[in-house]
Amino acid sequence: MHRSSRRTWARGPRMLLEVEDLNVYYGAIHALQGVSFSVDQGEIVTLIGANGAGKSTTLRTISGLLRPRRGAVRFRGEEITMTPAEQIVRLGIGQVPEGRRIFAPLTVRENLEMGAFTRKDPAEIAQSMERVFATARGLMSRPTLLLLDEPSMGLSPIMVEEIFRIIAEINLQGTSILLVEQNALMALQIAHRAYVLETGRIVLQGTAKELRESSKVKEAYLGLPKEALAAEGEAAVSPD
Ligand code: ATP
Repeated sequence: MHRSSRRTWARGPRMLLEVEDLNVYYGAIHALQGVSFSVDQGEIVTLIGANGAGKSTTLRTISGLLRPRRGAVRFRGEEITMTPAEQIVRLGIGQVPEGRRIFAPLTVRENLEMGAFTRKDPAEIAQSMERVFATARGLMSRPTLLLLDEPSMGLSPIMVEEIFRIIAEINLQGTSILLVEQNALMALQIAHRAYVLETGRIVLQGTAKELRESSKVKEAYLGLPKEALAAEGEAAVSPD
């Protein structure tokens, strides 16, 4: 860590990742349209949003797999917008991409199978195994910040609970986490703060509690019917 980075810490020593005005295109498709957010040290921050909102694109841009046409990514105050992906991993940003399939050595697998000895359903155990391998692989670089893309995708409710328990545990051990999820309900239960992404723009942000209580989030992402929300009243939207 060199001294010149002190200047860039102006916005607070706790800021780990800062994404500013990201604009990313796939050809003519303007997938990210000025996305800005931050992750502080020790936080779980979740980025929620529907299919196609731009969540994976955001993660791929942070990890250096995509280049923005405009905007910046800063990690610990240093700009990494154009840094090669493998260098970004070395700086301390690990990623578990969406739906990763991994072939692991048998000895590790056998160990994990022993951990599942109380469980009966082979398909569920296999699913668990796959996710544990993927998550563990992301942790092998000892990241300061872990980027997780839809870890709950395609899992049964029990498995979703389990994977979220693991994520919270990883965070308690000191790893900051940027969690991309369609399962807003679960993500907002473990996150400290959250951002809602809609068609390439951040449309809402706040503490996880504020977003859990927002009627817009309840209606659009937590699957609660309008009538139930009307019964609760609008007071819940207030940030305090
Ligand atoms: P999902 O949950 O389905 O992965 P997402 O929020 O992660 O959704 P992105 O995958 O980031 O969304 O996609 C954002 C937009 O960019 C969508 O309109 C999508 O169709 C488009 N897009 C994504 N990848 C490509 C690509 N390789 N080529 C062209 N368009 C793409």
